[in-house]
Amino acid sequence: MRLLLSDLRCQFNTLQQESTATPHNGLAQRQGAPYIRAMRIHTSSVPAMPAGRTPLEQPEFLPMTAADVKHIGWDGIDILLVTGDGYVDHPSFAAAILGRWLVAHGYRVGVAAQPAWDSTADLEKMGRPALFAGVTAGALDSMLAHYTAFRKKRSDDAYTPGGKAGARPNRATIVYTNLVRRAFPGLPVILGGIEASLRRITHYDFWTDKLRRPLLLDSKADAIIYGMGERAMLEAAVALDENGYAHQQDTGALPPLWTVFSALRGMACMVPADYAPAEADVFELPAHEAIEKAPHLLLQATVMLEKQVHAMNAPAIQPAGGRKVLLTAPAHPLGEEEMDRLYSLPFARTAHPAYTSPIPATDMMLTSVTTHRGCGGGCSFCSLALHQGRRIASRSRKSVIEEVRAMTRRADWKGTISDVGGPSANMWQAACAADPARCRRESCMHPSVCKAFKAQQPAAIDLLRTIRGMDKVRHVRVASGVRYDLALKDDTALRAYTMEFTGGQLKVAPEHICDNVLERMRKPGLPAFEAFLEAFETFSREAGKEQYVIPYLMSAFPGCTDDDMRTLGRWLRQRGWQPQQVQCFIPTPGTVATAMYYAGIDLQGDPIYVARTDAERLRQHHILIPSHGGAQGAAGKKHGQQRKNAPRHAAGKQQAAQQTRRDDDRRSRGRSSARPSRPQRRRG
Ligand code: SF4
Repeated sequence: MRLLLSDLRCQFNTLQQESTATPHNGLAQRQGAPYIRAMRIHTSSVPAMPAGRTPLEQPEFLPMTAADVKHIGWDGIDILLVTGDGYVDHPSFAAAILGRWLVAHGYRVGVAAQPAWDSTADLEKMGRPALFAGVTAGALDSMLAHYTAFRKKRSDDAYTPGGKAGARPNRATIVYTNLVRRAFPGLPVILGGIEASLRRITHYDFWTDKLRRPLLLDSKADAIIYGMGERAMLEAAVALDENGYAHQQDTGALPPLWTVFSALRGMACMVPADYAPAEADVFELPAHEAIEKAPHLLLQATVMLEKQVHAMNAPAIQPAGGRKVLLTAPAHPLGEEEMDRLYSLPFARTAHPAYTSPIPATDMMLTSVTTHRGCGGGCSFCSLALHQGRRIASRSRKSVIEEVRAMTRRADWKGTISDVGGPSANMWQAACAADPARCRRESCMHPSVCKAFKAQQPAAIDLLRTIRGMDKVRHVRVASGVRYDLALKDDTALRAYTMEFTGGQLKVAPEHICDNVLERMRKPGLPAFEAFLEAFETFSREAGKEQYVIPYLMSAFPGCTDDDMRTLGRWLRQRGWQPQQVQCFIPTPGTVATAMYYAGIDLQGDPIYVARTDAERLRQHHILIPSHGGAQGAAGKKHGQQRKNAPRHAAGKQQAAQQTRRDDDRRSRGRSSARPSRPQRRRG
């Protein structure tokens, strides 16, 4: 997302241009900066095993009914996870990974997947949870899951049995929270997932074209776990346990919940108006009411929040509705040993047997392997910046290999690993060689790859080759997410990706070619993309393979004019490319790009053109895809002939549209603005 104006062309922006670390007291010096005070390290930790708990035997599936609970041998549940997705017992599904993580730490967890919302019956099947309910809309923001870039209702939902839309409500976190309140009065409710995480402070809602308050005010939930949830959710369970909340319906004599949650990392909770984090350096965000009056402040707030997430050592606070939203310091990413433990849990790797129709998102998940979380890219339209963050949390090589081995033991194993990677495929084991807490940049990749960003691309290639050599593995592909500016830093790795691990086509994300647009996206310039294309063509020729690059392109990005789209169109025609997939920018909640869209300014505070109406947005789309009829992500017309390097999703509109959806699904977590409906590798 983008930034503010003159007054805020501020510290952040200038500092973002700096190369790497600056002294820690740099933040305090920015205090001329009205919204930042000094900083305190906010610590909390969770023991490997909470006191009084012992690891529970992992069930074949987490229970969804009273009969399931009884079958496992439990006499109730401690935590109920309510999710807007179907329940697939796979680490890419939040209910599965968080549920099994909690079970491994001694908590009995039940799942209410896509409960009916006209009655509390689905929530009550397993009885009242002893500790709390965790609520998520699912892998995507529920409004994004339901509506296209042109606000048309979608008919499908990749996370639902049978792939049909309609199994979750709009604004699912709010609806589900109300449902829990009715079913279990007094039970603490904690929100999580992308919808809650990205709506944790004041945000723009594209579907109503309005600014909305921090989600806690509208949902009346007790807290939000923002970012990846394992550590914070376990801490929350321990804290509720230790503060006497277990089995309590009358909590009047217990410490107020906000006092419990405000002591933990990675939490958002409402605190009294006079609350002030003692002796803390705090990111003091503009008040909701101030943003309502001055749109540029949304950009300021969003950029500050990005900083808070990246620095990872200070809370943020936003006055709203007569109280304040406290965002405690982000939870630490899981270390390698913790990541390995997490992914070694005995997932069934299939949908719950209660379902009679397949869940489409499962297809891709079952043949792909997640190696890491986080992305150093910091693209302004991407939800990753405020969710997974820019620090990379990786699994060990051994852990990844063990998962592949487990995949090959499945009866339906066909021999191909369709994808290995994370939000950016070539960032496995990458780390910052400086001190990220002092970093002033807004991206590790933009405007150029930071010298302190230490990628391990040779090790990643070695891992891919090892997997390819394993018994029962015939093919290993890296289908998407190769960050090409990073790949260009290692010719040997790029050669290997191209010659050995591209299955005919490789999807990369230039998004645009005009500098003014790319700069606001925080994407590399055209020379980097052209250098990548040249290398890809050279290596493909060397390999004797006919291979294609499939470029992700975006229209109607804030600051992008019709002329910019025509320039992009001319460049594509010069290369003989006829795009079939162009994503019309969707201003999803919480990103810098969305704040730019709302405020009509860029990060420098300069006014920008914004294609705002459907007519303006469609016009930009039509410049690249004249046949486009209005459905977001739709395919272009049929292509009888594909020229060299042309996207070659052959068959017609329906198939191409499905391909688009699959592509969307693959990277969804990280970039909800760009590819709204793709199942993501991992949700938090
Ligand atoms: S690698 Fe990333 S976090 Fe580290 S100094 Fe560079 S830009 Fe900052």
